[in-house]
Amino acid sequence: MRHRLLVPSLLASAGLCLPGLTACSHDSSAPGQATERAETAGQSASAGGGPEDAGTAGETTSAQAADADLKGKVIALDPGHNGGNAAHPEEINREVPDGRGGTKACNTTGTSTNSDYPEADFTWSVAKKLKTSLTDAGAEVVLSRKDNKGVGPCVDERGTFADDADLLVSIHANGSESSSVKGYHIIVADPGEDEKTEAASVDLAKSVGKSMGEEFTANKAYGKAAISRRPDLAGLNNASVPAVIVECGEMRNRSEAKVMESKSGQRKYADALFDGIVDWF
Ligand SMILES: [Zn+2]
Repeated sequence: MRHRLLVPSLLASAGLCLPGLTACSHDSSAPGQATERAETAGQSASAGGGPEDAGTAGETTSAQAADADLKGKVIALDPGHNGGNAAHPEEINREVPDGRGGTKACNTTGTSTNSDYPEADFTWSVAKKLKTSLTDAGAEVVLSRKDNKGVGPCVDERGTFADDADLLVSIHANGSESSSVKGYHIIVADPGEDEKTEAASVDLAKSVGKSMGEEFTANKAYGKAAISRRPDLAGLNNASVPAVIVECGEMRNRSEAKVMESKSGQRKYADALFDGIVDWF
């Protein structure tokens, strides 16, 4: 089912975490640390979406899509953050249910590469490519946001919008302060909605991790499988279906940033996520 060539990873370490450019670590820079904390809004992230925001010209379907049959499956994709978040600090800083009886900020600006390419643009681009592949394979795809120009939705809605889906994949990229940190990792709620859903989420994380590992570097700080369990991520906590957050890579790492900023790199992320989803089914 896979038609990708295995190429050597070109990852290396470089770059700086610059104060004042959105925050360096929106989700976590190390296991067990920081979360979706509110970040300095009004800077850095573009408010108008990325270069691909307006259309799908040149969008191609990956070769794998033709081999997969996802007819009857409903897949929820959550492209992290939103292009307009930074310009609306009051909206994204308001408190919403965290799914554990408390509250947390509606959303954050997300991180960015050292050349100011925003996480929201990256996640939107990958989600669009992934949606095309999944749709071509017969699946119905629901997205948490309709474009890359708006604000939110808040983290609670980023879980509940998937209530009628078979699974939820939330797409992010990390912004660890150290530019030498690199690699993807996958997050599962701890605990999950119930035992069955929790086990299915762990299976989904393993499946996605396996396909990601064929193309990208795993961040072994999160264990051999690069999977972490967290109780504090509202999107996952508010999900009633098998759900994972995929931190595709580190935006402060120069080599990974280069891949994340390129259309070919975004295509590879979308293809890896596609394979992981298909394999899970
Ligand atoms: Zn994020």
